[in-house]
Amino acid sequence: MFDVAIIGAGVAGSVAAIALAPTHSVVLIDKQAEPPQRIGECLPPAARRIFRRLDLLEAFNQQSHLPSQGMQSYWGSEHAQIVDHIRNPDGFGWHLDRQKFELFLRESAHQRGVECIWPAKLVSVQDTDEYWDITTDSAHRIQAKFLIDAGGRQSPFARLRGIQREQTDKLIACWAILSDNTQHRMGMLSATKTGWWYSAPLPDNKRVIAFQTDSDQVDSEVKKDPGVLIRLALTCPAMTRLFASLDDTSISDSIHCGVSAANSTRLTQVAGHRWAALGDAALSFDPLSSQGMFNAMASAMQLVDLMQTSKDVSREYKHQIENIWQRYLIHKNTFYRQENRWKDSPFWKRRHQ
Ligand SMILES: Cc1cc2nc3c(=O)[nH]c(=O)nc-3n(C[C@H](O)[C@H](O)[C@H](O)COP(=O)(O)OP(=O)(O)OC[C@H]3O[C@@H](n4cnc5c(N)ncnc54)[C@H](O)[C@@H]3O)c2cc1C
Repeated sequence: MFDVAIIGAGVAGSVAAIALAPTHSVVLIDKQAEPPQRIGECLPPAARRIFRRLDLLEAFNQQSHLPSQGMQSYWGSEHAQIVDHIRNPDGFGWHLDRQKFELFLRESAHQRGVECIWPAKLVSVQDTDEYWDITTDSAHRIQAKFLIDAGGRQSPFARLRGIQREQTDKLIACWAILSDNTQHRMGMLSATKTGWWYSAPLPDNKRVIAFQTDSDQVDSEVKKDPGVLIRLALTCPAMTRLFASLDDTSISDSIHCGVSAANSTRLTQVAGHRWAALGDAALSFDPLSSQGMFNAMASAMQLVDLMQTSKDVSREYKHQIENIWQRYLIHKNTFYRQENRWKDSPFWKRRHQ
């Protein structure tokens, strides 16, 4: 019998496991044998505080992720605005090698005594009134007193319990990873009539490009073919300038591409008796915020603190998550309303309502 079972060894689940390991027996379960190639690589400077609390900062620094100097954005105007981290008290952020980062977190959990089980997909869970009886597709039977759903947007435990997800929009991200030998070291954001582009340098001379739009506002070929995605990028002046600095092989050697859900969603119930949901399982943010991983880490720390100090974890945690969601919605809506150049296009109209 474990004190805590965590479903999902992404950023949220692994950080929660590392934070709980000194005081609880923990089992961490993931359906993937190793972290997949995922989009989402900007980690804000404040993450340094969490690494320090977990005694992970030194090991993290040795991973040679790229320092992030800031973001150049074309939002609300064709003129570039630069938000840099120079005056940030926490220092620079990072552009991560996401797979390497997740592997680092999984290995750190393992080294701190967490029982790690993968690949193993949660398929059923029974509440015996005293503990959770968990079954996976690899025939593991696991018992735990407390259960954490860190299974990302799929929120697998909450779904098995019949808890609904609310969504505020239908944003998707069509993305590709290219090779990039330039010295262009800033992230870039640029609004267009049907959505917005994002690009950032990655370690090992790579670069991600992503187009955020509504699923009904984009041709299906853009979702499948990086060549079509790049041709669409070339209709955006800021992206054209970026591509002008890349050589031809960067474009022909595009390494990977995919389509990801990028809409804002939340569980209608984020905690209950002897369980809680974390990270994207609880709240998933629009990538405009660049805060998904940080929120995953911070909500893991909040939950672990409450598990160690609170007499009513569920009530206090729900209250904290509700506050985060309300603040997030205000910021997101304010930011989208700053772009007024295409008021009549469906993408922007939906966000200005
Ligand atoms: C286009 C885009 C760009 C983004 N850019 C950024 C960015 O720049 N910066 C940032 O901070 N965030 C960004 N994000 C968000 C960020 O990627 C997520 O917020 C983050 O991945 C959430 O981490 P998580 O651990 O909660 O969930 P996930 O990363 O989704 O991890 C969930 C884990 O649960 C496992 N799992 C799922 N179901 C089961 C099951 N049934 N049984 C066992 N295991 C299961 C999965 O295999 C996975 O490992 C972006 C998101 C998108 C869509």
